[in-house]
Amino acid sequence: MSKVHNFSAGPCILPQEVLKKASEAVINFNNLNLSLLEISHRSKDFVAVMDKAQALVKELLGVPDGYSILFLQGGASLGFLKVPYNFMKEGGSAAYVNTGVWASKALKEAQQLGNIKEIASSKDKNFNYIPKGYSIPTDADYLHITTNNTIFGTQFKNIPTCPIPLIADMSSDIFSKKIDVSKFDLIYAGAQKNMGPAGTTLYIVKDSALGKTGRKIPSMLDFQVHIKGESMFNTPPVYPVYVSMLTLQWLKDNGGVEWIEKINQQKADLLYNEIDANPFFVGTAEKEDRSNMNATFVLKDEKLADEFNNMWKAANISGIVGHRDVGGYRASMYNALPLESVKALVDVMKAFAIKFG
Ligand SMILES: *Cc1c(COP(=O)(O)O)cnc(C)c1O
Repeated sequence: MSKVHNFSAGPCILPQEVLKKASEAVINFNNLNLSLLEISHRSKDFVAVMDKAQALVKELLGVPDGYSILFLQGGASLGFLKVPYNFMKEGGSAAYVNTGVWASKALKEAQQLGNIKEIASSKDKNFNYIPKGYSIPTDADYLHITTNNTIFGTQFKNIPTCPIPLIADMSSDIFSKKIDVSKFDLIYAGAQKNMGPAGTTLYIVKDSALGKTGRKIPSMLDFQVHIKGESMFNTPPVYPVYVSMLTLQWLKDNGGVEWIEKINQQKADLLYNEIDANPFFVGTAEKEDRSNMNATFVLKDEKLADEFNNMWKAANISGIVGHRDVGGYRASMYNALPLESVKALVDVMKAFAIKFG
């Protein structure tokens, strides 16, 4: 089997060694002669997996005391609804920065529960930048941002200074770089962009911020219920939690978030330098807001698309077709994507320019 350079936007590439261990656990977990898929989530072997996954999150991100770490179901998309249920007061309001498809969906879900103020938006330019210089209403219950915009290839380089509780959807850049968790009342992320397989969502929630809305919250949406149940109020997604744990262990063994942040910067620099230098391509996002995770670019001459597509396919590159809202190409460079895969893509772009130049 020849190596595929997997630039998939999500579900994402995972380290080969993680996939190998994960596959072994399906047949024989911890030498129990049982599959991980057929043992109780309350068995000591699985409880150890959940504890380990939570401990790794805490260690890798430097989560301070006073925060709970949960692995729940429903995707970040259910998180969009959990946010207002747990943080917006009955009759209250919340502020949202609209930076793309996911930010818009988060905003729309929250509108079901209260008065939502879209305080800034980059919709006027098809979300190709991160709005700046807006003022944050001090009477809102929280501010919601989407730190990395997976579809449009933009990323917050600075977290806004926020006078009210700050909540972030970090689905597509969590664990890609250092963050200061203490700035946030809630961080959430679907696992499948940078942490593991689809099926679980990570929540890092400040305990003291909960229980203040005066709302009746359905149990499955209530963070306090899940905290009390230690992430096992109902059957947790055992396999996605296990594979996420393995991926976080891989990250730790290799040097943690500091290590991967440097490599992610090298990958992004390599690709963006080529996009800027190559006369056949143009990046779609504003330079200062470019995402280190998802690089979006288009061909200047669409008529050459077939030629370019044939070349990257021949080089065993996969998953770089852009989202339909942007078109062109999107190269997702999540943690497990090696630098050599970016080199392979850049080599194809260079060869393409020589061939048609
Ligand atoms: C993919 C994505 C989501 C949606 O996640 P699901 O787990 O599929 O619900 C939300 N936010 C961002 C930023 C994403 O990239």
